[in-house]
Amino acid sequence: MKEEFNLQNLVRSNVRKLQGYASARDEFKANKTGMTFLDANENPFENGLNRYPDPQQRELKSALAKLKNVKPTQILLGNGSDEVLDLLFRAFCEPKEDNVITLPPSYGMYRVLAEINAIENREVFLDKDFEPHLRAILEQQDNNTKLLFICSPNNPTGNSFDARSLKNLLENFNGLVVIDEAYIDFSTYESWVNFLDIYPNLVVVQTMSKAYGMAGIRLGIAYASVEIITVLNKIKPPYNINEVTQQHALKRVLDINNVMDEVETMLKQREQLIPELSSIGYIEKVYSSDANFVLVKVDNALQRYQELIQKGIVVRNRTQDPLCDNTLRFSIGTPEENQKLLQVLKEMDL
Ligand SMILES: *Cc1c(COP(=O)(O)O)cnc(C)c1O
Repeated sequence: MKEEFNLQNLVRSNVRKLQGYASARDEFKANKTGMTFLDANENPFENGLNRYPDPQQRELKSALAKLKNVKPTQILLGNGSDEVLDLLFRAFCEPKEDNVITLPPSYGMYRVLAEINAIENREVFLDKDFEPHLRAILEQQDNNTKLLFICSPNNPTGNSFDARSLKNLLENFNGLVVIDEAYIDFSTYESWVNFLDIYPNLVVVQTMSKAYGMAGIRLGIAYASVEIITVLNKIKPPYNINEVTQQHALKRVLDINNVMDEVETMLKQREQLIPELSSIGYIEKVYSSDANFVLVKVDNALQRYQELIQKGIVVRNRTQDPLCDNTLRFSIGTPEENQKLLQVLKEMDL
């Protein structure tokens, strides 16, 4: 049986002791208008961006909280999910002592961030159906295992993991379970954000880079318990989300109906693309997808990848990933782009 969960046991000791930086805008929170701000050494001549941004991004968090049915204090925002993931390492993993578990083939940043932070990365490959191998994962954990990274829907395979398996991991893993939901808006599965009250060791990471169409502004989001978010908040750079990003992100969140319409279009495109791809001779397998991309197995991934480049189409060659021999990953584009992809793929079949 798992011991009672105690978050503070997982926090690095230097972080536990740390008194975070208090910025000018932390010390005085601007709730009132009409104040004269002479506290942050800013240039006072207004140009729309001369002031420091809100370090706690209150307006944006309040909109996200409403949308996701969580408290604003259960949200941490980062400069892309990549910063959110890095903060998790820095808050919970002691360099050269602790370890994390990742489940290849998956998103490559988990391994890179582990290496940057000098944390051992224990890899437990997915099984042949691209599902997590529960027993092997639990066997790999020891007293220094702090984080388990789960990407669902998984990049690059495209499938969502069985919810019962993930519940089992949430119940039996001793560290934090980080579920990366970069593609959740394309998925038929329920978001794990709805289970934060049940699992004190759950962190759900989402992003505005995919369904929301805002990769350029860099906005990643962690949803977790107030206690976990408090720890991450303490170590984040004070002004990590710039003013331009906060404004664009808020506008897009308030425009959720348009986001969902675009998602619908991409999903319809995906459903049209899949049978067409299957009809191409050298495409040996089209994996089912719960995301905005499709993984296919071809006769020779490197050769097909280069042929596509020559015809002006850039896809991702995943052949180096475990279990992904000779696979290519196609993002779903506009209807015109998908037509072009199909036309070129068919020409290559002659
Ligand atoms: C694209 C992607 C992200 C997004 O990262 P950002 O830094 O937010 O752009 C995160 N996780 C996975 C699995 C992804 O595929």
